[in-house]
Amino acid sequence: MRKRARPGKPILGVDIDNVLAESDARLRALFRKLYGITLKEHQMTQYDYMTYGVTEEQLRQVFRIFNVEACRTLKVVPGAKTAMQQLAGRYEIALVTSRNPESKASTEYWLRAKGLPYDQLHFNDDKHALGIPYHAFIEDRHEHAHLIAETGATVYLLTRPWNATPLAHPNVRRVHTWSEILDHLM
Ligand SMILES: [Mg+2]
Repeated sequence: MRKRARPGKPILGVDIDNVLAESDARLRALFRKLYGITLKEHQMTQYDYMTYGVTEEQLRQVFRIFNVEACRTLKVVPGAKTAMQQLAGRYEIALVTSRNPESKASTEYWLRAKGLPYDQLHFNDDKHALGIPYHAFIEDRHEHAHLIAETGATVYLLTRPWNATPLAHPNVRRVHTWSEILDHLM
């Protein structure tokens, strides 16, 4: 049983896709399998599959499969589970994802199956505007990171091919691994 967060425990916001879960790899595999569109991870300098020839309808189909089925069996990003288990002792964990709420049951299934601890789970693309007083946030999208940084939180941007552009806010810090995140937060 998870204990309820104590009052005053700092809140750590954590993204799910490509922070806890290897989502991009699965999405690219679905585009290849269903439509013969081959995308390599290093090509993904923008996190927008339509930039790379995917149509709006193909995107909709793939995300429907992802949200209800494929996201139940994603791999966990290396180091994330051990790190989250340590962080959960010190922080109230708020998972905040841009996923469609239709993925809620499958997302909760996956978090439980993988043993990833959390106190709150939000499905909302406006991560910075939820009124949650984040102490820090772990994110892979450059745009989200900078909006959240504006709220005063320190944002750890996990390096991915799509976030290589220079950082533009003093509260955003680039990290390459979960081990580095632990060095900052524990
Ligand atoms: Mg993400």
